[in-house]
Amino acid sequence: QFENTVPNDVQKALNAIAALPEALMAKLSDTLAAELPLIARDGNFIATGANAELDELRSLRDESRRVIAALQLRYADETGIKMLKIRHNNVLGYFIEVTANHADTMTGNAEAKAKFIHRQTLANAMRFTTPELAELETKIANAAGAALTIELQLFDELTAAVVAAGDAIRAGAQALAALDVASALAELAETQGYVRPHVDLSLDFKITAGRHPVVEQALRRDATGPFIANDCDLSPPSKNSISENGALWLLTGPNMGGKSTFLRQNALIAIMAQMGSFVPAGAATIGVIDRLFSRVGASDDLARGRSTFMVEMIETAGILNQAGNRSLVILDEIGRGTATYDGLSIAWGALEHLHEVNQCRTIFATHFHELTALSEKLARMSNVTMRVKEHQGDVIFLHEVGHGAADRSYGVQVAKLAGLPESVVARAREILDALEQGAIGKAPAVLIDDLPLFSVPVQRARATTPDTRESQIVKRLSELAPDELSPREALDLIYELRGLAAEKAKN
Ligand code: ADP
Repeated sequence: QFENTVPNDVQKALNAIAALPEALMAKLSDTLAAELPLIARDGNFIATGANAELDELRSLRDESRRVIAALQLRYADETGIKMLKIRHNNVLGYFIEVTANHADTMTGNAEAKAKFIHRQTLANAMRFTTPELAELETKIANAAGAALTIELQLFDELTAAVVAAGDAIRAGAQALAALDVASALAELAETQGYVRPHVDLSLDFKITAGRHPVVEQALRRDATGPFIANDCDLSPPSKNSISENGALWLLTGPNMGGKSTFLRQNALIAIMAQMGSFVPAGAATIGVIDRLFSRVGASDDLARGRSTFMVEMIETAGILNQAGNRSLVILDEIGRGTATYDGLSIAWGALEHLHEVNQCRTIFATHFHELTALSEKLARMSNVTMRVKEHQGDVIFLHEVGHGAADRSYGVQVAKLAGLPESVVARAREILDALEQGAIGKAPAVLIDDLPLFSVPVQRARATTPDTRESQIVKRLSELAPDELSPREALDLIYELRGLAAEKAKN
């Protein structure tokens, strides 16, 4: 009934599911027990009622006592010996036992003699067997084994039937998987406001109002604030030259500014687009990407004897040696794992190589602001930065990507936000000021002398009231100039204050 109302691929999947062999499904559900063991070896997987012989064998095995008791009753009845017993020992197996005074009844006439076969005479008892009992005993002894044999035989039959229908089952499973993926992605696209990307053979990469699919949901779940959508355009800079390659964005900005999130969201959008999904963006045009390279995070490999820096360099080498002009590369802060000048030099060399040799679409996040000068020299490179606001010595992250370069790292402010002791933050500020004023060339000893170790921080520590969350909230509020706030900043401030309040509540 879905004919012509659903896409071809979905129709194909529905057909494959409809083509699953119903007789086999019925056979499986009739034959197999409701609760199945993990392994077939020990049996007990065929349902009761599926095979008459098996049912009999099982009742013999499981209810042997009942069967023997019934037989004993019958023999007692037939012989008139009330005390007739059927017993079992390891030498004789099952046997019929009567006390010695009943010996005549068991052996006295031809009929009884023919029926009861003498096995043993004891001082006060006689023991017999019958072909019936012997057969029952053999049956009982073999029942378990025979039941298992039948079960395994049925198992082989079922397996053969399933294998014979293998193609249909495989097609059905694939159809279910395809429907599962398609419906999950469709639901995501619908509920999360994703758009259909345009994928073509150009070298464009133009994302308007892109979002990180996971961070976006995490922010919403924790109600920490709205996710700020950002554009990304790595398309060849001048549209009139068809042969031109894609662009390179050099992304600066403080830690916590949102650099990693931005890098990853663009890589994720590319992957989602090329796997046939809608993407978390307002619009997306992507010239098909042949390979995606990423060097992000601190996934070090210390267990295998490689330092974080070594891993970083190996991964960077892989990218520089392999990326082509149809690739997409995201690099997060390469060179941070070594001394400043080493790191800067490596990042510098890598950046030039990516631009000149790999010529791929690239986002290169760095905290080496010196690299921004390269945009003068590298035609397809632009500087972008994560916007921040400074407010009375604190830093407010706007999570907006804008053109230009970050002028500072805001490392000290971020450290303060993270809760470093006030004295350490103050001391770091003094040293930073000194370094920025040119003390960098001086010998360390001079620097130490110029900045007496304890005087400044101790004074500060005395001057400030105890740094409770509450006083932070009051301080933020009293410093506030409401008329100067943009709606965006006001919203950020509300989230910030609520965050402080939540932390206070926690403590
Ligand atoms: P960086 O790599 O610059 O240190 P991250 O990308 O790790 O920064 O981001 C730090 C935090 O900032 C994230 O955990 C996230 O909560 C928040 N964040 C990042 N980007 C955004 C955004 N576009 N909108 C809202 N919050 C963001």
